[in-house]
Amino acid sequence: MEELAQKYRTINPEYFDLLMKWQEYILYPAVLAIIVAILIFVSYKIKLSSLSTMKGKFDLASQEETKRYFQANVAFAIALFLFFNSTMIDNVARDPIWFGIRFFIAVCIGVLHCYVAMLLLKYYWPKLLHKKLHKLRYTPRTNPKNGNKMKLLSEEYEDAYLDEGKQAEENVFSVDYDVWIDEETGDTLIEKYEGHLIAMECDRCGFMTLRLEKEEVTKEVSGSEDGELLKEYTCTYCNRVKRKTVILSHTIRQDINAGKLVDNPLETTKHVVTVKVDLFSNEDDHLSYKFQNLKEAKRFLDEFDFDKIDMDKQ
Ligand SMILES: [Zn+2]
Repeated sequence: MEELAQKYRTINPEYFDLLMKWQEYILYPAVLAIIVAILIFVSYKIKLSSLSTMKGKFDLASQEETKRYFQANVAFAIALFLFFNSTMIDNVARDPIWFGIRFFIAVCIGVLHCYVAMLLLKYYWPKLLHKKLHKLRYTPRTNPKNGNKMKLLSEEYEDAYLDEGKQAEENVFSVDYDVWIDEETGDTLIEKYEGHLIAMECDRCGFMTLRLEKEEVTKEVSGSEDGELLKEYTCTYCNRVKRKTVILSHTIRQDINAGKLVDNPLETTKHVVTVKVDLFSNEDDHLSYKFQNLKEAKRFLDEFDFDKIDMDKQ
């Protein structure tokens, strides 16, 4: 600093003294911004690890993780901006115009950092987050009463359910229920997942940017009949619109109460109309059998004897 003062103070003492103050004080908010960035990140991690259930962690991560990471990056960008405003001191001391140039470059650096962070969080990060959420959702739960490992009750994957209260609302969004059961005691644990909070992989652009935008009941659930729900997904990256019809199950609640445990997901589904068994012999013959349900297919396989079948006849 002494050296600098000897060189440049004589040119414009007022400007030089002011600049020296600036150089000193700009570092305080810069350090503060770094601390804020770290606090945002660490407080989120602490909050996440303090949650005792996987479902709790899932909800927090799916709703807040991306937001928190972006906020931490904004704070970091502000720190970068402030720090940069203390560099290039030689030029800035020589000519006040450099003060403006430095300020402008600092703004660009800060904005660029925010922009890159935004792009990464929007297009690259969701895939990693999805993996993490998938793990949180499907890691076997333990029964809090006895520590037993619980099993996930298989439901057809796309089964949806609408809350009665929700059906009355304008924005109807379906929910998925995961039912965990303790095989020994029959204890169940029911977890509710809101469909519109989960982003999916777009089958056109490959990013995890396909989100549920709209849902419409195309067939009401009535008495013992399942209804139908039309789901409309929109990709925020390539604007692809995807429509899908999903069964609105009236039985999910009953299944939950019955607590039926199945190893084969086909066994509970009411939506499979045909089960097909294809046989290929080592002589390149091919036989195909169709069954109306899994029970018949199973019986066929149980009684199956290859020698009794005449491949040529088919
Ligand atoms: Zn897309």
